Amino acid sequence: MTREIICISCPIGCHLSVSYRDNGNVQEKDIQIENNKCSRGLIYGKEEILSPKRVVTATCAIDSIHMARIPVKTTGALLKNSIYPLLEDLYKIKLMPPVSAGDIVLENFMNSGINVIATRSLSR
Ligand code: SF4
Repeated sequence: MTREIICISCPIGCHLSVSYRDNGNVQEKDIQIENNKCSRGLIYGKEEILSPKRVVTATCAIDSIHMARIPVKTTGALLKNSIYPLLEDLYKIKLMPPVSAGDIVLENFMNSGINVIATRSLSR
């Protein structure tokens, strides 16, 4: 199987050609990658097949006269299969102002070492 995957490790966005045999137990050594301009593309392409991750952006409820929800994001990329449980937890949270951009909303989600932080400030 060959997939085209856009490397998002830098703004160039190389269109990686990622080939592997889809036998249900793909190993790193079985993955071939072409069209990468640098070695980071090799790492990204393999990770996308073996354990894809994403930075998550979402919103949390906030008890404010100005807005009902405030934007938040993860401080790093989470495994894709952790995203839905994260969103479930985030949608249970109701913040109280004041909130500053960078404040931790959820700490060390599922022992991943990744926090969720507010991405804007709200004084009241
Ligand atoms: S392969 Fe290298 S140059 Fe190409 S998008 Fe990824 S990081 Fe950038």
